[in-house]
Amino acid sequence: MIKKNTTIKEAQILLGSKKVSASELLDSVLVNIKETNKDINAFLEVFDSAKILAKNADKEIAGGRQKPLTGIPIAIKDNILIKGKIASASSKILEPYKATYDATVISKMKSQYAVFVGRTNMDEFAMGGSTENSAFGVTKNPHDISRVSGGSSGGSAASVAVGGAIASLGSDTGGSIRQPAAFCGVVGLKPTYGTVSRCGLIAMASSLDQIGPMAQTVEDVEIVFNEIKGVDHMDGTSCLNPKWQKTPERKLTIGIPKDFLKNKNKDIDTGVLESFYASIEVMKKQGYEIKEISFAEFDSALAAYYIIMPAEVSSNLARIDGVRYGLSIDEKNLTSSYSHTRGCGFGKEVRRRILLGTFVLSAGYYDSYYGNANLVRRHIKSAFSEAFIDVDIIATPTTPTPAFKIGEKTKNPILMYLEDLFTVPVNLAGIPAISVPAGSVLRGDKKIPLGIQFIADSFGEDLLFKVGKDMESVLEKDDSRGEKRFN
Ligand code: GLN
Repeated sequence: MIKKNTTIKEAQILLGSKKVSASELLDSVLVNIKETNKDINAFLEVFDSAKILAKNADKEIAGGRQKPLTGIPIAIKDNILIKGKIASASSKILEPYKATYDATVISKMKSQYAVFVGRTNMDEFAMGGSTENSAFGVTKNPHDISRVSGGSSGGSAASVAVGGAIASLGSDTGGSIRQPAAFCGVVGLKPTYGTVSRCGLIAMASSLDQIGPMAQTVEDVEIVFNEIKGVDHMDGTSCLNPKWQKTPERKLTIGIPKDFLKNKNKDIDTGVLESFYASIEVMKKQGYEIKEISFAEFDSALAAYYIIMPAEVSSNLARIDGVRYGLSIDEKNLTSSYSHTRGCGFGKEVRRRILLGTFVLSAGYYDSYYGNANLVRRHIKSAFSEAFIDVDIIATPTTPTPAFKIGEKTKNPILMYLEDLFTVPVNLAGIPAISVPAGSVLRGDKKIPLGIQFIADSFGEDLLFKVGKDMESVLEKDDSRGEKRFN
């Protein structure tokens, strides 16, 4: 039997030396899914076809053609298309929809003979921060099942935490990879906008969406990122000439937006802040220079995000009208067919955002809402560029609170939106960020994981991996469900 928290790196060696076959590796993750999915609900579907993929991977390995992801069991968020498989985005409106083509990230992984284990649960159309907006039930936190796994990629994060996959793919529009990664004690990367193709990702807000990897270690996330990134002519915003930054061979400086952390104290859990500053001390000992920076623009990011995002949501989701995809409720005339299909098929949060987005784009309000929010966005982008003249990396807690109780924030959307405090500025600026496990807080008798977020300038993924690995090196691995804590 293969141990629960086997990493990609370890699996590559086991597979390459023929100590373990891809089929055995798959069997071991299937056991973990069987043991946990009834409680956790990370997977909406486990693919029967995974067995065939594993056999094919074994043939490749036997033929001496092992690639970085050959035979690696990977879980896929339910908004990324795999040809012939259902892609519901955890929505009733798309429930029966089967993808007619592979997303580019899926083709890339298929060409390596990766093994797709199944589809993971998420907030409906990626709107939310807890998976409570899924039409198929919440994904519970593997560290405490009375708590949420985060969202929207909660299923992808939990699938890795329970050993149901060695890595997973999520999507991040305002924090949906990093926040659930932090809540579940795994690593999650939001890549630079345009570096990973969005072709085949069910769009939420196109100028903010990015697909990215989640795994147990920074090294694993790096491996997956290297295999899924790249120019794609099927994505109009694909970055044609990425100027990848090399990590400089000098002492690196980490910037801390201290004023912001201070001013916002009321919204930030004290345990989160204590753990964050403990992590910063750790980084100091690791040889990093710590510099306080003022970053007032952080304050306005959330407001700008919750105008720009719903505007794009309302436009993107207009195509889901019951005529072309999924659910279709026939009525006497087209208008009532549209409104009944959309009214019954979309959940409450999705409808809220469509209405909000339609409002901020409407004649007479467009300039004062959408126009101004875009000005704020530009301001945030240039504030980051300025900050990166003085510092190499910016660090924040990934989330203002640890994983919260199921139902705690569902009645108050604003409280839920505040969870995105630290993550949305990154999407607005299109820059990369990683969440790395950084200790835990005790809630009752349960240790609830926390994450630290490192942000770099565009194409600074290499820097993120370096800092992330340094952070990780002071954490010891606990054998239970990938939980990590300080030495
Ligand atoms: N929680 C954020 C929201 O609800 C982020 C969602 C995401 O990144 N997909 O919009």
